[in-house]
Amino acid sequence: MIVVMKQGSTPKQVEHVVQLVREMGLKENVIVGEERTVVAVIGNDRFKDRTRMESSDGVEKVVPILAPYKMASREVKKERTVVPMGSDPKAAIGGVRVGVIAGPCSVENKAQLLEIAHAVKEGGAVGLRGGAFKPRTSPYAFQGLAEKGLELLALAREETGLAVVTEVMAVDQVDLVAKYADVLQVGARNMQNFNLLNAVGDQSKPVLLKRGMSATLEEFLLAAEYIMSRGNGQVMLCERGIRTYEEYVRNTLALAAVPALHRATHLPVVIDPSQGTGKNYLVDSMCRAAVAAGADGLIVEVHNDPEHAMTDGAQSITPEQFAAAMKAVKRIAAAVDREA
Ligand code: PEP
Ligand code: MN
Repeated sequence: MIVVMKQGSTPKQVEHVVQLVREMGLKENVIVGEERTVVAVIGNDRFKDRTRMESSDGVEKVVPILAPYKMASREVKKERTVVPMGSDPKAAIGGVRVGVIAGPCSVENKAQLLEIAHAVKEGGAVGLRGGAFKPRTSPYAFQGLAEKGLELLALAREETGLAVVTEVMAVDQVDLVAKYADVLQVGARNMQNFNLLNAVGDQSKPVLLKRGMSATLEEFLLAAEYIMSRGNGQVMLCERGIRTYEEYVRNTLALAAVPALHRATHLPVVIDPSQGTGKNYLVDSMCRAAVAAGADGLIVEVHNDPEHAMTDGAQSITPEQFAAAMKAVKRIAAAVDREA
């Protein structure tokens, strides 16, 4: 449920409501909006008695939340959430500006990463992606450079000012990755790793949560809820394609997820056209389509030598192709009252 306070309710009245919530054995999240304050009640409140809450001073109404996810729900918060990435105010996802994150699938070496980082910055990216811990189907495949890769990402940030977005695969990597990254990526294969969701929810860096390849939107939003219920509200949802019987693409990019998620949640939505198609020739048009559909951000794999990339070369575009895609994205963004 959410407790909607009256306009002009006092901090003391809000504090009293918080007290009642805690007495019920539940947790609260106080959202101070421009017009009024709302107390979102976290936890299973289905059989709780709301009457005391309803008759408290300063309370306008108590509204049950129908969605199984609460903090992620638009019922709790109508205004869209803007998630800042790092210290550059331009690097945010969820505002008027469509935030573009670009870079290699994996961090391979210093020369590769720096060349790509400078190129994507030049092309208009505000974030740099690159995996240091890689979830690979085969245990014999390249697993990433681990901390060495994180150090290189930090160096690239120093040189370019780009915010660093990189994957964390396990609970015991969270502190290390958070030390270097501006945004922690939780990969598709870990979307329902509930211990990991709790762990990234317990720290303060923003999280880019990818949709599992066979997850429903409701499961996706409940995964976001895990993170938010631990106190970290800075969650970006990333649609990266789902597994279907189709073979002309690696995954089927579900672009309808953009408006569907916007209807259900206030969290920003990022599209990954690279994992989303698996084919470099499809990336450019899917970037444009995503922005046309209202995506708040893009995360794109860019490589200076896709043919020799250690991971995901087939879906990586070159810096030149990225620059061209960004030009087109800017035009589309303007057409839908956004910037890029
Ligand atoms: C990636 O971004 O390189 C990646 C492994 O993504 P996903 O978790 O979406 O497969
Ligand atoms: Mn990849």
